[in-house]
Amino acid sequence: METDRVDAVVVGAGASGGIVAKELAEAGWRVVLLERGPWLETFGHLETRDAWVTGIDRVPFGPERSDVRTVRASDRETARTVEPRSALHATLPSVVGGGSVYYGGFAWRFKPETFRLRTLAGPVPGANLADWPLTYDDLEPFYEKAEYELGVSGDENPWGAPRRKPLPMPPVSDNREAAVLHPAARRLGWKPFHTPLAILSQPYRGRSACVRCAFCNGFGCEVGAKSSTLVTVIPEAIRTGRCRVIPQAFVREITVDGHGTPDGVLFERAGSRAHQKISARVIVICASATETPRLLLNSKSKFFPAGLGNEHDQVGRNIENDGSFSAHGLFDHVVTDQIGPGVCFAVDDFQFRHPGAGRLGGMISNLHTRPPLGFVARVQVPDHVRPYGRELKEFYRTYFLQSIFLYATCHTFPRAENRVDTDPAVRDARGVPVSRITYHQHARNAEIEQFMADRCADLLREAGAKSVVTPHIVRESEAGPSTHQLGSCRMGNDPFSSVADRTGRVHNVPNVYIADGSLLVNPGGYNPSLTIQALAYWVSAAVARSHRG
Ligand SMILES: Cc1cc2nc3c(=O)[nH]c(=O)nc-3n(C[C@H](O)[C@H](O)[C@H](O)COP(=O)(O)OP(=O)(O)OC[C@H]3O[C@@H](n4cnc5c(N)ncnc54)[C@H](O)[C@@H]3O)c2cc1C
Ligand code: SF4
Repeated sequence: METDRVDAVVVGAGASGGIVAKELAEAGWRVVLLERGPWLETFGHLETRDAWVTGIDRVPFGPERSDVRTVRASDRETARTVEPRSALHATLPSVVGGGSVYYGGFAWRFKPETFRLRTLAGPVPGANLADWPLTYDDLEPFYEKAEYELGVSGDENPWGAPRRKPLPMPPVSDNREAAVLHPAARRLGWKPFHTPLAILSQPYRGRSACVRCAFCNGFGCEVGAKSSTLVTVIPEAIRTGRCRVIPQAFVREITVDGHGTPDGVLFERAGSRAHQKISARVIVICASATETPRLLLNSKSKFFPAGLGNEHDQVGRNIENDGSFSAHGLFDHVVTDQIGPGVCFAVDDFQFRHPGAGRLGGMISNLHTRPPLGFVARVQVPDHVRPYGRELKEFYRTYFLQSIFLYATCHTFPRAENRVDTDPAVRDARGVPVSRITYHQHARNAEIEQFMADRCADLLREAGAKSVVTPHIVRESEAGPSTHQLGSCRMGNDPFSSVADRTGRVHNVPNVYIADGSLLVNPGGYNPSLTIQALAYWVSAAVARSHRG
C-alpha cells in the first residue's frame, strides 16, 4: 500500500488506536497506524514475566529508558526526572497493542451517573467536575460492540448499568478463592458476581480460550486469550488490505499546511534520526493520556503558537485516574492456588447507592494470581517476623497459598491544576520535549479510598482472615497518575473548558481527533479501558460519518 498520502493516520496502536484503525479500514479508508514500540508476536520470555514486577530494565517492550518524564506536585516546584517503570512515571507499555497487551483485562462499563457527575455531586471546592457531552445511553451500543468484537467474559452485575445484551460468554471458571469470597460477601449482605474480563472463557472468533496460566496481569498472553487489540482488531484491520502498521515509529509532530490545516505527521523510526512525513486527510491521536497532550503541545506553528488545540490553555489539564489499591488477608489454611487468571469475584455495592463517602466508591474484586516475586513485592511482613533468613523464607512459603489479595477502585476528583505539559528543560534521546506531570490529588479522594479500604477489611475478616493489611491512605498524596490515566484532553461542548467536542474532534480544528483515555471527563469507580475502547468506537463512527470520500 502506498503510504505517503493516506486517508487517516492513527498515532498509537494501543487499547484505543487499534480499534480506530480497524473501524476506518473497514469503512474503506486507507489507514496507517504508527506505534513507537515494537511489534511482538510471542510472549514466552521469562524476562518479560519478571520485568514488570521487579523493574528489570531489559524488557522486549518499551518505552525506552530514555523516555523519561518529569514530575512535580505544584507549578511552584521544579520538576524532577523519573524513568519508565518508576512509581511516578505512570508508565504504560509501548508496544503494538499498548496497555491492552499487558493489562489485567478488567472490562467494566461506567455507570450512567458517572456521565453527569457534576450535576449529581454539585460544586466540590477544589475539584473541576463537569458533565460529559454524551450520556451512557449514547455510548451503550459502543460498549456492546467493544465487548463482542474484543471478547469479554463474566456474568451479570446485579448493580450494573442497563444493557441490551448479556456479555458474549460466561465467566472463566473459578479458582479456589471464589469458594472463600462469594459466601463471605453474601453473609455481609452484598451481591457477589464474576468480574467482567477481556479474557476468553471459551474459543471465540478463531482465538483459543484461556489456559489458566499463572502469569496474567502485567504479562503478554502466550495463547492470545487475553483480548488485547494486538490479537483482535489490529489483525482484522490488516486483513482489510487497507491498513499498514508501522512499529517503532515515534510521531514527533502534527504538521499543518500553508493555511493552518493539519495535513499529516512527522515521525522517525527507531535507530534513525531521519524525519519522515505521512500526509493524511484526518489524524486520530491515540497515544494515551500522558503522551497525547505532549504531542499536541509539541505541534506548534504560527497558526497554533501554544500547541495544537491549546488555544484556551486546556490541553493536558485535569489528568486523573481512578483510586485503586490492594488489601490482603493472611489465613491459617490454604485459600488460593496458582490457577490463572485468578480473578473470579467482584462486588459492586458501593456506587451511587448510599449517602456519604461510599456514594462514590467503586468495586472490589479479587486480584490476579501472583507470581512469587509479585507476592514478595506486595505482601507486608508482620513485625514479629524477623525480616531476613529462615523465618522470612518460612513466612513467604507459608503465606504464598494462605493469602488473598483484594483489589478496589473508586472515584476521584479531577483538578484543573493537575496537568501534563511539556518540560522546558528536559528532552528525550530524539530531542523532543518530554511530558511534565504536575499532580497533587484532591483531599477528598482519601475519604472515599478509606471507605473502600474498610470494606475490603470487612470482607477479608468475614472470609476468615486472621490478619488483614489495608493500604495506608494519606490525604495529601502527591502520587501521580497511575496506569489508569485519563482526562488530559477532556471532551465537552465548551472550547474554553475542554479540548475536544463530543465526537472527539479537537475544537476549532477540522480534521484532528482524539480517541484515547485523554477524552474521559472523569474516572468511574472502575478500571477505565472498556470505556476508553467504547469511546474509540464512538469517535471512529463520527470520523467516518463526517469525512466521507
Ligand atoms: C499492568 C497493567 C494492568 C492494567 N490492567 C487494567 C485492567 O485490568 N483494566 C483496565 O481497564 N485497564 C488496565 N490497565 C490500564 C490500560 O492498559 C489503559 O487504560 C489503556 O491501555 C489505555 O489505553 P490508551 O489507548 O489510552 O493508551 P495505550 O494503550 O497506552 O496506547 C497508546 C499507544 O500509543 C503509543 N504512543 C505514545 N506516544 C506515541 C508517539 N508519539 N508516536 C507513536 N506511538 C506513540 C504507545 O506506545 C502506546 O502503544 C492496566 C495497565 C497496566 C500497565
Ligand atoms: S491467565 Fe489466561 S488470559 Fe491470562 S495470560 Fe494466562 S492464558 Fe492468557
